[in-house]
Amino acid sequence: MKIFDYMGSYGYEQLVMWSDPATGLKAMVAIHDTTLGPACGGLRIWPYETEELAIRDVLRLSRAMTYKSAVADLPLGGGKAVIIADSHTQKTEALMRAFGRFLNTLGGRYLVTTDVGSTGRDLEYISQETDYVVGLPVNMGGSGDTSIMTRLGIYMGMKASAKEVWGDDSLKGKRVAMQGFGKVATYTAHHLIKEDSHIVVTDINEEAMDRARKLGLEVVAPDEIYDVDCDIFSPCALGGVINPDTIPRIKARIVAGGANNQLLTEADGEELHRRGVLYAPDYLINAGGIINVSAEIGATYSADRAREKTERIYELMSQVAHVSKKEEISTARAADRIAEERLESVRSIKPIYRGR
Ligand code: NAD
Repeated sequence: MKIFDYMGSYGYEQLVMWSDPATGLKAMVAIHDTTLGPACGGLRIWPYETEELAIRDVLRLSRAMTYKSAVADLPLGGGKAVIIADSHTQKTEALMRAFGRFLNTLGGRYLVTTDVGSTGRDLEYISQETDYVVGLPVNMGGSGDTSIMTRLGIYMGMKASAKEVWGDDSLKGKRVAMQGFGKVATYTAHHLIKEDSHIVVTDINEEAMDRARKLGLEVVAPDEIYDVDCDIFSPCALGGVINPDTIPRIKARIVAGGANNQLLTEADGEELHRRGVLYAPDYLINAGGIINVSAEIGATYSADRAREKTERIYELMSQVAHVSKKEEISTARAADRIAEERLESVRSIKPIYRGR
Protein backbone atom coordinates (compact mmCIF):
# COMPACT_ATOMS: atom_id res chain seq x y z
CA MET A 1 0.00 0.00 0.00
CA LYS A 2 1.41 3.38 -0.99
CA ILE A 3 0.30 5.26 2.10
CA PHE A 4 1.13 8.80 1.00
CA ASP A 5 -0.49 8.30 -2.40
CA TYR A 6 -3.62 6.96 -0.73
CA MET A 7 -3.70 9.76 1.86
CA GLY A 8 -3.11 12.38 -0.81
CA SER A 9 -5.84 11.15 -3.11
CA TYR A 10 -8.51 11.19 -0.37
CA GLY A 11 -7.32 14.31 1.44
CA TYR A 12 -6.09 12.81 4.71
CA GLU A 13 -4.31 15.19 7.08
CA GLN A 14 -2.43 12.90 9.46
CA LEU A 15 -1.65 9.35 10.43
CA VAL A 16 0.24 8.65 13.63
CA MET A 17 1.56 5.42 15.14
CA TRP A 18 2.35 4.98 18.81
CA SER A 19 4.36 2.20 20.39
CA ASP A 20 4.84 1.41 24.07
CA PRO A 21 6.55 -1.97 24.54
CA ALA A 22 6.07 -1.88 28.32
CA THR A 23 2.28 -2.11 28.01
CA GLY A 24 2.25 -3.76 24.56
CA LEU A 25 0.55 -0.71 23.04
CA LYS A 26 0.49 -0.60 19.25
CA ALA A 27 -1.88 2.20 18.34
CA MET A 28 -2.72 4.35 15.33
CA VAL A 29 -4.79 7.48 14.93
CA ALA A 30 -5.93 8.74 11.54
CA ILE A 31 -7.17 12.30 11.19
CA HIS A 32 -8.90 12.67 7.88
CA ASP A 33 -10.21 16.22 7.93
CA THR A 34 -10.56 18.97 10.55
CA THR A 35 -12.28 21.61 8.41
CA LEU A 36 -15.43 21.56 10.56
CA GLY A 37 -13.83 21.01 13.98
CA PRO A 38 -11.70 18.57 15.96
CA ALA A 39 -11.58 15.08 14.50
CA CYS A 40 -13.81 12.72 16.45
CA GLY A 41 -14.41 8.98 16.19
CA GLY A 42 -14.25 5.75 18.11
CA LEU A 43 -11.38 3.59 19.27
CA ARG A 44 -11.42 0.14 17.66
CA ILE A 45 -9.53 -2.57 19.53
CA TRP A 46 -9.07 -5.49 17.18
CA PRO A 47 -6.44 -8.23 16.66
CA TYR A 48 -5.61 -7.27 13.06
CA GLU A 49 -3.68 -10.00 11.29
CA THR A 50 -1.32 -7.50 9.70
CA GLU A 51 -0.31 -3.89 10.34
CA GLU A 52 -1.38 -3.02 6.81
CA LEU A 53 -4.94 -4.16 7.56
CA ALA A 54 -4.98 -1.94 10.64
CA ILE A 55 -3.72 1.05 8.63
CA ARG A 56 -6.35 0.50 5.94
CA ASP A 57 -9.09 0.24 8.55
CA VAL A 58 -8.14 3.32 10.53
CA LEU A 59 -7.84 5.40 7.34
CA ARG A 60 -11.12 4.18 5.84
CA LEU A 61 -13.05 4.60 9.10
CA SER A 62 -11.70 8.09 9.80
CA ARG A 63 -12.82 9.32 6.38
CA ALA A 64 -16.31 7.92 6.96
CA MET A 65 -16.40 9.97 10.19
CA THR A 66 -15.71 13.18 8.23
CA TYR A 67 -18.73 12.48 6.03
CA LYS A 68 -20.90 11.39 8.95
CA SER A 69 -20.32 14.59 10.94
CA ALA A 70 -20.53 16.78 7.83
CA VAL A 71 -23.89 15.41 6.70
CA ALA A 72 -25.30 15.46 10.26
CA ASP A 73 -24.41 19.14 10.56
CA LEU A 74 -21.97 18.67 13.47
CA PRO A 75 -18.98 20.90 14.27
CA LEU A 76 -16.62 17.92 14.12
CA GLY A 77 -14.03 16.52 11.76
CA GLY A 78 -13.28 12.88 10.97
CA GLY A 79 -10.87 10.72 12.93
CA LYS A 80 -10.51 7.21 14.24
CA ALA A 81 -8.12 5.21 16.41
CA VAL A 82 -7.13 1.56 16.46
CA ILE A 83 -5.21 -0.47 18.96
CA ILE A 84 -3.92 -3.77 17.63
CA ALA A 85 -4.95 -6.17 20.39
CA ASP A 86 -7.56 -8.73 21.33
CA SER A 87 -10.07 -6.81 23.43
CA HIS A 88 -11.07 -9.95 25.34
CA THR A 89 -7.59 -10.99 26.45
CA GLN A 90 -5.11 -8.13 26.00
CA LYS A 91 -6.93 -5.07 27.30
CA THR A 92 -5.49 -3.69 30.54
CA GLU A 93 -5.72 -0.46 32.53
CA ALA A 94 -2.08 0.27 31.66
CA LEU A 95 -2.73 -0.20 27.93
CA MET A 96 -5.63 2.26 28.04
CA ARG A 97 -3.72 4.81 30.11
CA ALA A 98 -0.70 4.55 27.81
CA PHE A 99 -3.02 5.32 24.89
CA GLY A 100 -4.43 8.29 26.85
CA ARG A 101 -0.97 9.75 27.44
CA PHE A 102 -0.16 9.58 23.74
CA LEU A 103 -3.50 11.21 22.94
CA ASN A 104 -2.32 14.36 24.73
CA THR A 105 0.41 14.78 22.11
CA LEU A 106 -2.26 15.58 19.51
CA GLY A 107 -3.34 18.62 21.54
CA GLY A 108 -7.07 18.04 21.01
CA ARG A 109 -6.95 17.52 17.24
CA TYR A 110 -8.60 14.15 17.87
CA LEU A 111 -11.31 13.30 20.43
CA VAL A 112 -11.75 9.63 21.23
CA THR A 113 -14.95 7.73 22.00
CA THR A 114 -15.97 4.04 21.91
CA ASP A 115 -16.12 1.68 18.95
CA VAL A 116 -15.91 -2.09 18.44
CA GLY A 117 -13.79 -3.58 21.25
CA SER A 118 -13.80 -0.52 23.53
CA THR A 119 -16.23 0.34 26.32
CA GLY A 120 -17.14 3.15 28.71
CA ARG A 121 -14.81 1.55 31.27
CA ASP A 122 -11.91 1.88 28.83
CA LEU A 123 -12.77 5.55 28.30
CA GLU A 124 -12.63 6.03 32.06
CA TYR A 125 -9.04 4.73 32.11
CA ILE A 126 -8.09 6.89 29.13
CA SER A 127 -9.64 9.94 30.81
CA GLN A 128 -7.31 9.51 33.76
CA GLU A 129 -4.52 10.67 31.43
CA THR A 130 -6.21 13.07 29.01
CA ASP A 131 -9.20 15.38 28.59
CA TYR A 132 -9.63 14.49 24.91
CA VAL A 133 -12.33 11.91 25.57
CA VAL A 134 -16.07 12.11 24.78
CA GLY A 135 -18.91 9.67 25.46
CA LEU A 136 -17.86 8.85 29.03
CA PRO A 137 -20.48 7.03 31.14
CA VAL A 138 -23.30 9.25 32.44
CA ASN A 139 -22.14 8.84 36.05
CA MET A 140 -18.85 10.44 35.01
CA GLY A 141 -20.56 13.42 33.42
CA GLY A 142 -20.54 12.06 29.87
CA SER A 143 -23.28 11.27 27.40
CA GLY A 144 -23.08 7.48 27.95
CA ASP A 145 -24.15 4.64 25.68
CA THR A 146 -24.19 5.80 22.05
CA SER A 147 -26.30 2.90 20.78
CA ILE A 148 -29.51 4.42 22.21
CA MET A 149 -29.41 7.42 19.85
CA THR A 150 -27.96 5.26 17.08
CA ARG A 151 -31.08 3.08 17.07
CA LEU A 152 -33.34 6.15 17.05
CA GLY A 153 -31.51 7.49 14.01
CA ILE A 154 -31.75 4.18 12.16
CA TYR A 155 -35.45 4.01 12.88
CA MET A 156 -35.90 7.60 11.63
CA GLY A 157 -33.91 6.73 8.50
CA MET A 158 -36.08 3.67 7.87
CA LYS A 159 -39.27 5.68 8.24
CA ALA A 160 -38.10 8.45 5.92
CA SER A 161 -37.08 5.78 3.38
CA ALA A 162 -40.50 4.11 3.68
CA LYS A 163 -42.17 7.46 2.99
CA GLU A 164 -40.09 7.79 -0.20
CA VAL A 165 -40.79 4.29 -1.45
CA TRP A 166 -44.37 3.64 -0.32
CA GLY A 167 -45.66 7.20 0.20
CA ASP A 168 -46.33 6.47 3.89
CA ASP A 169 -43.78 6.26 6.69
CA SER A 170 -45.62 3.60 8.67
CA LEU A 171 -43.61 0.41 9.12
CA LYS A 172 -46.65 -1.56 10.30
CA GLY A 173 -46.69 -4.97 8.66
CA LYS A 174 -43.38 -4.38 6.85
CA ARG A 175 -40.94 -7.30 6.84
CA VAL A 176 -37.49 -6.27 8.05
CA ALA A 177 -34.50 -8.64 7.72
CA MET A 178 -31.80 -7.79 10.26
CA GLN A 179 -28.26 -9.06 9.85
CA GLY A 180 -26.63 -9.08 13.29
CA PHE A 181 -28.59 -8.78 16.51
CA GLY A 182 -26.20 -6.90 18.79
CA LYS A 183 -26.80 -3.64 20.67
CA VAL A 184 -27.88 -1.47 17.76
CA ALA A 185 -30.14 -4.05 16.09
CA THR A 186 -31.80 -5.09 19.34
CA TYR A 187 -32.67 -1.52 20.26
CA THR A 188 -33.86 -0.78 16.71
CA ALA A 189 -36.03 -3.91 16.83
CA HIS A 190 -37.82 -2.54 19.90
CA HIS A 191 -39.01 0.45 17.84
CA LEU A 192 -40.10 -1.89 15.03
CA ILE A 193 -41.92 -4.27 17.37
CA LYS A 194 -43.89 -1.32 18.76
CA GLU A 195 -44.91 -0.50 15.23
CA ASP A 196 -45.99 -4.07 14.46
CA SER A 197 -43.33 -4.76 11.85
CA HIS A 198 -42.40 -8.38 11.14
CA ILE A 199 -38.72 -8.94 11.93
CA VAL A 200 -36.47 -11.74 10.67
CA VAL A 201 -33.08 -11.94 12.37
CA THR A 202 -29.76 -13.66 11.99
CA ASP A 203 -26.55 -13.61 14.02
CA ILE A 204 -23.45 -15.78 14.24
CA ASN A 205 -23.77 -15.70 18.01
CA GLU A 206 -26.23 -18.20 19.56
CA GLU A 207 -26.95 -15.95 22.55
CA ALA A 208 -28.03 -13.18 20.21
CA MET A 209 -30.26 -15.63 18.32
CA ASP A 210 -31.83 -16.72 21.62
CA ARG A 211 -32.48 -13.10 22.53
CA ALA A 212 -34.31 -12.70 19.21
CA ARG A 213 -36.34 -15.89 19.78
CA LYS A 214 -37.38 -14.68 23.24
CA LEU A 215 -38.73 -11.51 21.63
CA GLY A 216 -40.81 -13.73 19.35
CA LEU A 217 -38.80 -12.88 16.22
CA GLU A 218 -38.22 -15.26 13.32
CA VAL A 219 -34.58 -16.38 13.05
CA VAL A 220 -32.66 -17.77 10.07
CA ALA A 221 -29.11 -19.06 9.51
CA PRO A 222 -26.49 -16.36 8.79
CA ASP A 223 -26.16 -16.98 5.07
CA GLU A 224 -29.92 -17.21 4.51
CA ILE A 225 -30.57 -13.62 5.51
CA TYR A 226 -29.85 -12.29 1.99
CA ASP A 227 -32.59 -14.50 0.52
CA VAL A 228 -35.32 -13.56 2.99
CA ASP A 229 -38.45 -12.20 1.40
CA CYS A 230 -38.55 -8.74 2.97
CA ASP A 231 -39.35 -5.06 2.46
CA ILE A 232 -36.28 -3.69 4.28
CA PHE A 233 -32.85 -5.29 4.49
CA SER A 234 -31.02 -4.00 7.55
CA PRO A 235 -27.28 -4.71 7.87
CA CYS A 236 -26.42 -4.31 11.55
CA ALA A 237 -23.22 -6.34 11.86
CA LEU A 238 -20.35 -5.89 9.46
CA GLY A 239 -19.18 -3.70 6.61
CA GLY A 240 -18.85 -4.75 2.95
CA VAL A 241 -22.03 -6.86 2.98
CA ILE A 242 -23.61 -5.05 0.03
CA ASN A 243 -21.57 -6.35 -2.89
CA PRO A 244 -21.92 -8.03 -6.31
CA ASP A 245 -22.56 -11.43 -4.67
CA THR A 246 -25.30 -10.27 -2.30
CA ILE A 247 -27.12 -7.55 -4.31
CA PRO A 248 -28.87 -9.98 -6.71
CA ARG A 249 -30.14 -11.96 -3.68
CA ILE A 250 -31.63 -8.99 -1.79
CA LYS A 251 -35.37 -8.71 -2.41
CA ALA A 252 -36.02 -5.59 -0.34
CA ARG A 253 -37.00 -2.19 -1.76
CA ILE A 254 -34.97 -0.49 0.99
CA VAL A 255 -31.54 -1.15 2.50
CA ALA A 256 -31.27 0.63 5.86
CA GLY A 257 -29.15 -0.50 8.78
CA GLY A 258 -26.61 0.49 11.39
CA ALA A 259 -23.40 -1.19 10.19
CA ASN A 260 -20.59 1.08 9.05
CA ASN A 261 -19.26 0.90 5.48
CA GLN A 262 -22.00 -1.43 4.20
CA LEU A 263 -21.15 -0.93 0.52
CA LEU A 264 -18.09 -2.91 -0.51
CA THR A 265 -17.32 -0.29 -3.18
CA GLU A 266 -18.97 2.86 -4.52
CA ALA A 267 -20.17 0.82 -7.51
CA ASP A 268 -22.44 -1.18 -5.19
CA GLY A 269 -24.33 2.01 -4.28
CA GLU A 270 -24.80 2.68 -7.99
CA GLU A 271 -26.00 -0.87 -8.60
CA LEU A 272 -28.65 -0.63 -5.85
CA HIS A 273 -29.84 2.61 -7.45
CA ARG A 274 -29.96 1.03 -10.90
CA ARG A 275 -32.13 -1.78 -9.51
CA GLY A 276 -34.55 0.67 -7.87
CA VAL A 277 -33.52 -0.20 -4.31
CA LEU A 278 -33.44 2.81 -1.98
CA TYR A 279 -30.21 2.74 0.00
CA ALA A 280 -30.27 4.79 3.21
CA PRO A 281 -26.59 5.85 3.46
CA ASP A 282 -25.11 4.12 6.50
CA TYR A 283 -23.12 7.05 7.80
CA LEU A 284 -26.22 9.25 7.69
CA ILE A 285 -28.72 6.99 9.44
CA ASN A 286 -26.25 5.62 12.00
CA ALA A 287 -25.09 9.12 12.99
CA GLY A 288 -27.14 9.11 16.23
CA GLY A 289 -24.09 7.95 18.20
CA ILE A 290 -21.83 10.79 17.12
CA ILE A 291 -24.71 13.25 17.47
CA ASN A 292 -25.07 12.06 21.06
CA VAL A 293 -21.41 12.64 21.94
CA SER A 294 -21.35 15.97 20.11
CA ALA A 295 -24.06 17.17 22.51
CA GLU A 296 -21.53 17.12 25.35
CA ILE A 297 -18.81 19.09 23.54
CA GLY A 298 -18.61 22.69 24.76
CA ALA A 299 -21.87 22.33 26.72
CA THR A 300 -23.46 20.33 29.50
CA TYR A 301 -24.89 17.19 27.90
CA SER A 302 -28.59 17.33 27.25
CA ALA A 303 -30.35 14.12 26.15
CA ASP A 304 -33.25 16.19 24.83
CA ARG A 305 -30.97 18.19 22.55
CA ALA A 306 -29.30 14.98 21.34
CA ARG A 307 -32.68 13.36 20.67
CA GLU A 308 -33.97 16.40 18.78
CA LYS A 309 -30.88 16.43 16.54
CA THR A 310 -31.06 12.67 16.00
CA GLU A 311 -34.70 12.91 14.95
CA ARG A 312 -33.55 15.29 12.20
CA ILE A 313 -32.10 12.22 10.47
CA TYR A 314 -35.62 11.75 9.07
CA GLU A 315 -35.42 15.14 7.36
CA LEU A 316 -31.83 14.59 6.22
CA MET A 317 -32.74 11.22 4.68
CA SER A 318 -35.66 12.86 2.83
CA GLN A 319 -33.26 15.53 1.57
CA VAL A 320 -30.84 12.86 0.33
CA ALA A 321 -33.69 11.08 -1.49
CA HIS A 322 -34.78 14.40 -3.01
CA VAL A 323 -31.27 15.22 -4.29
CA SER A 324 -30.95 11.67 -5.63
CA LYS A 325 -34.17 12.04 -7.65
CA LYS A 326 -33.50 15.57 -8.83
CA GLU A 327 -29.91 14.95 -9.91
CA GLU A 328 -30.56 11.37 -11.05
CA ILE A 329 -27.76 10.05 -8.89
CA SER A 330 -27.66 7.30 -6.27
CA THR A 331 -28.55 8.12 -2.66
CA ALA A 332 -24.99 7.16 -1.70
CA ARG A 333 -23.63 9.77 -4.09
CA ALA A 334 -26.26 12.33 -3.00
CA ALA A 335 -25.24 12.03 0.67
CA ASP A 336 -21.56 12.35 -0.26
CA ARG A 337 -22.38 15.44 -2.29
CA ILE A 338 -24.27 17.12 0.59
CA ALA A 339 -21.34 16.39 2.94
CA GLU A 340 -18.75 17.60 0.42
CA GLU A 341 -20.65 20.82 -0.27
CA ARG A 342 -20.71 21.64 3.43
CA LEU A 343 -16.98 20.93 3.73
CA GLU A 344 -16.24 23.06 0.67
CA SER A 345 -18.33 25.99 1.88
CA VAL A 346 -16.58 26.07 5.27
CA ARG A 347 -13.17 25.60 3.62
CA SER A 348 -13.85 28.64 1.46
CA ILE A 349 -14.16 31.06 4.42
CA LYS A 350 -11.60 33.75 3.77
CA PRO A 351 -8.71 33.76 6.27
CA ILE A 352 -8.48 37.16 7.98
CA TYR A 353 -5.44 38.71 9.58
CA ARG A 354 -5.91 38.86 13.34
CA GLY A 355 -2.95 41.09 14.19
CA ARG A 356 0.15 40.05 16.09
P1 NAD B 1 -22.44 -5.45 18.52
O1 NAD B 1 -21.09 -6.06 18.61
O2 NAD B 1 -23.25 -5.26 19.75
O3 NAD B 1 -23.35 -6.31 17.50
C1 NAD B 1 -22.90 -6.85 16.30
C2 NAD B 1 -23.58 -8.22 16.16
O4 NAD B 1 -23.30 -8.70 14.83
C3 NAD B 1 -23.05 -9.26 17.12
O5 NAD B 1 -24.13 -9.88 17.81
C4 NAD B 1 -22.31 -10.26 16.22
O6 NAD B 1 -22.37 -11.59 16.69
C5 NAD B 1 -23.06 -10.10 14.92
N1 NAD B 1 -22.34 -10.55 13.73
C6 NAD B 1 -21.01 -10.41 13.44
N2 NAD B 1 -20.75 -10.96 12.23
C7 NAD B 1 -21.92 -11.44 11.75
C8 NAD B 1 -22.30 -12.12 10.56
N3 NAD B 1 -21.41 -12.41 9.62
N4 NAD B 1 -23.60 -12.46 10.38
C9 NAD B 1 -24.51 -12.18 11.35
N5 NAD B 1 -24.21 -11.55 12.50
C10 NAD B 1 -22.93 -11.18 12.70
O7 NAD B 1 -22.23 -4.05 17.75
P2 NAD B 1 -23.25 -2.84 17.64
O8 NAD B 1 -22.84 -1.78 18.58
O9 NAD B 1 -24.63 -3.33 17.62
O10 NAD B 1 -22.85 -2.31 16.19
C11 NAD B 1 -23.31 -2.95 15.01
C12 NAD B 1 -22.80 -2.19 13.79
O11 NAD B 1 -23.25 -0.84 13.87
C13 NAD B 1 -21.27 -2.12 13.67
O12 NAD B 1 -20.93 -2.14 12.30
C14 NAD B 1 -20.93 -0.75 14.27
O13 NAD B 1 -19.71 -0.25 13.74
C15 NAD B 1 -22.14 0.05 13.77
N6 NAD B 1 -22.41 1.26 14.54
C16 NAD B 1 -22.61 1.18 15.89
C17 NAD B 1 -22.87 2.36 16.60
C18 NAD B 1 -23.16 2.34 18.08
O14 NAD B 1 -23.57 3.38 18.62
N7 NAD B 1 -22.99 1.23 18.77
C19 NAD B 1 -22.90 3.59 15.93
C20 NAD B 1 -22.71 3.62 14.55
C21 NAD B 1 -22.46 2.44 13.88
